[in-house]
Amino acid sequence: MSVNLKDKIAVVTGASRGIGYFTALELAKAGAHVIACARTVGGLEELDDAIKAAGGSATLVPFDLADMNAIDALGASIFERWGKLDILVANAGVLGVISPIGHVEAKVFEKVMTVNVTATWRLIRSVEPLLMRSEAGRAVILSSAAAHRCRPFWGPYSASKAAVEALARTWAGETQSTPLRITSVDPGATRTAMRAQAMPGEDPDTLPHPRDVAKAIIPLVGPNVTETGKLFVVRENKLVDYRMPE
Ligand code: NAP
Repeated sequence: MSVNLKDKIAVVTGASRGIGYFTALELAKAGAHVIACARTVGGLEELDDAIKAAGGSATLVPFDLADMNAIDALGASIFERWGKLDILVANAGVLGVISPIGHVEAKVFEKVMTVNVTATWRLIRSVEPLLMRSEAGRAVILSSAAAHRCRPFWGPYSASKAAVEALARTWAGETQSTPLRITSVDPGATRTAMRAQAMPGEDPDTLPHPRDVAKAIIPLVGPNVTETGKLFVVRENKLVDYRMPE
């Protein structure tokens, strides 16, 4: 399904590589102006080149999501320049470490919570007034099956993803009577740096490419989305309703 995003303004976090990179590229190809966020300038510049080659446009915003003041400043800058925001893709995330809970170092646990949870809340707080100024605001929050499966040794990451899903559903309830539609999406195992860190022995070629996962996610920012607060999963490059594990 192709979505026309002409004149839309979209923020994508974690746009320097992986799922965020390709989601940003697909948004730009669909006509959105992409505000691409991440720390790695080289990755953002590569994205900018790819977007320009596809006939689109982007604004690069390199910063660390652990910097909460920078997240506030992002919202203020978007207001000054565009006066609104149409699409938020809160995608950036870190795995932390695969380890028994009792062995996780405090700084690692805190980093996972800061980037995956606190920064997502701060981003919501920063851009919600801007999304409300859009005639059809859309927010997509990247989650993970780990939020529900709670697989041994994935403690900090699982807890962080359960927390962002709770944030997304709460936010959806609060904004139900507005045009804003909010979705969580579990992209499924995808060929990225994070997956390679989690599963070093796995053959990446057996996994879906983030380009295809991004294509599956894009309809969630389109005008036809009516439900809010739902969790979707990407399986075999298709978006499907989530079912709780038995
Ligand atoms: P990835 O390839 O590791 O990319 C993560 C992105 O997040 C990068 O662009 C990175 O940019 C950004 N990021 C990390 N820490 C940051 C920080 N402190 N400040 C700003 N940006 C930061 O990961 P991915 O696999 O594409 O994952 C994308 C999302 O999908 C994540 O939320 C992840 O939890 C979720 N997910 C992935 C899978 C999978 O199999 N890949 C499965 C389920 C869920 P910089 O390093 O340049 O800052």
